[in-house]
Amino acid sequence: AARIGAVLEVAGIVKKFGGFKAVDQVSLTVNSGQIHALIGPNGAGKTTTFNLISGMFMPDQGSVKLANTDISGLAPHEISAKGLARSFQITNLHEGVSIYENLHLSVQAKHPGRFNLWRDIDTYGDVHRETAELTRFLGLEGIEDVKGGDLSYGGQRLVDLGIALASKPQILLLDEPLAGLAAAERERVASLVRRMAENIPVLIVEHDLDRVLSLSHQVTVMNQGQVLMSGTPAEVRADAHVQEIYTGT
Ligand code: ADP
Repeated sequence: AARIGAVLEVAGIVKKFGGFKAVDQVSLTVNSGQIHALIGPNGAGKTTTFNLISGMFMPDQGSVKLANTDISGLAPHEISAKGLARSFQITNLHEGVSIYENLHLSVQAKHPGRFNLWRDIDTYGDVHRETAELTRFLGLEGIEDVKGGDLSYGGQRLVDLGIALASKPQILLLDEPLAGLAAAERERVASLVRRMAENIPVLIVEHDLDRVLSLSHQVTVMNQGQVLMSGTPAEVRADAHVQEIYTGT
């Protein structure tokens, strides 16, 4: 039975490449209102786990439930239609159009009747209001007219998160959202992720260990395809095994 507040429930998933188990009986639960970090050294199986959750790979065993619906075995576009948004390091943004247009397109895509001229006229005001609200939420008001391609890397990451938000997902999977950013930009993106998570739970893979532990509520630590431990950031920091796999001592 699902626990109250559980939005994503991963239970005993396994993925083999040939005879090698890249993901071996991994379970984790992401609750509403929470940022859940998936950490572990290179090769631990984090990306494969994300690929299993988002439907890029089919698990050999185990199940993935989104808001109590079994989504294991569905195609990526079906899973995204059910409300799972994944933001990659590679940006989804259109470089040749403005920030506003990038966000407007994504907000509009979520509105029903978008191919119907009369509905378009009805919903235009709503789409505009929602886009303006999203722009403010991202802290990008005042620079709406800047082209996507003219933005800094950090600015592009903010728009990218906005594009994911515009789809009104039930959960957000973030693939190293802080990678490659300057310190000030990292702070800005981290603070946005924190505000987003108040409404939409977040599952995040991030290499910046200190930053991700300070950002998250719950942590799952993977090593060699398995869950080494899960707990609060404080529990993870204090765990001798975790220190071992990170420092190799
Ligand atoms: P992480 O994201 O934690 O660095 P990955 O999930 O990318 O780890 O990789 C876990 C393990 O699975 C690694 O040993 C990797 O080499 C292996 N692996 C990942 N994808 C494939 C694949 N498509 N074919 C074979 N092995 C793979």
